[in-house]
Amino acid sequence: MDVRNGFRAGDPRPGKQCCGDGPATDPPADSTDWLQVVDRIAEWIRGARFGVALTGAGISTDSGIPDFRSPGGVWSRSRPVYFDEFLSSERARREYWRQKAEAHDDIVRAQPNIVHRSLADWERRGLLHGVITQNIDGLHQLAGSRRVLELHGTARLVACLNCDWSDEADRWVAEFRERGQVPPCPRCGGIIKHATVSFGQALRAEVLEQAADWARKADLFLALGSSLVVQPAASLPVIAAENGARVVIINREPTPVDAEATVTVRAELAPVFRRLAERLTECAGG
Ligand SMILES: [Zn+2]
Repeated sequence: MDVRNGFRAGDPRPGKQCCGDGPATDPPADSTDWLQVVDRIAEWIRGARFGVALTGAGISTDSGIPDFRSPGGVWSRSRPVYFDEFLSSERARREYWRQKAEAHDDIVRAQPNIVHRSLADWERRGLLHGVITQNIDGLHQLAGSRRVLELHGTARLVACLNCDWSDEADRWVAEFRERGQVPPCPRCGGIIKHATVSFGQALRAEVLEQAADWARKADLFLALGSSLVVQPAASLPVIAAENGARVVIINREPTPVDAEATVTVRAELAPVFRRLAERLTECAGG
């Protein structure tokens, strides 16, 4: 367990600092350092006027969705299909759909975990403005979050690249499996693809702008389960910090933007969120 406090000048410092570079483990129940830091974060959440959470693959692993970059993840077995290949080659499109069909069952089986449920709860209670996510699994919406910006789109929908047709992914994945061919758009005959942002495909400008706007407005910015190595996600905590937000980074591994954080907690998310949920429930009642 590593709780690292990169407190900035002027911020109240916690009583004690505890640093280390070992792998994250569940915090011991009697670790007062850990509890103090997480309880402080709970206070910040309760006091936030414009709290924003940024979430990455690390929050969905507890829901049974493998991090596609990790060993055993889809990119350790298959090379991703780049967007230009997808457009130019029928074979590449079949390979893309094959990979998507493989990941599909994990996504439809997955249920939100305590992180998704807590973020939805805080939004309902006005403690959090919304969630910016790098995930494509739709679990935030399933947990009840209303304001969700999906930086990389969603794997729960497929859409036509030629017209504005879109539909639930389920029946189209089933059709692909049955026919072994990529189904054409039922409206215009164009190419259909999951509504995710592929490698080499541009992110949606309006989603990006909105995410940067939330980061600028945030007074509390929580980066959760993201390695913060992929742009534009990596720049969002920096924007938030530059605009005066408290930035909290909770992740198993160090990130390249840890130096921007008010506090970093190198830990599994579930035990941290169990504690946060406990503190915020108590506080709401008291
Ligand atoms: Zn179409």
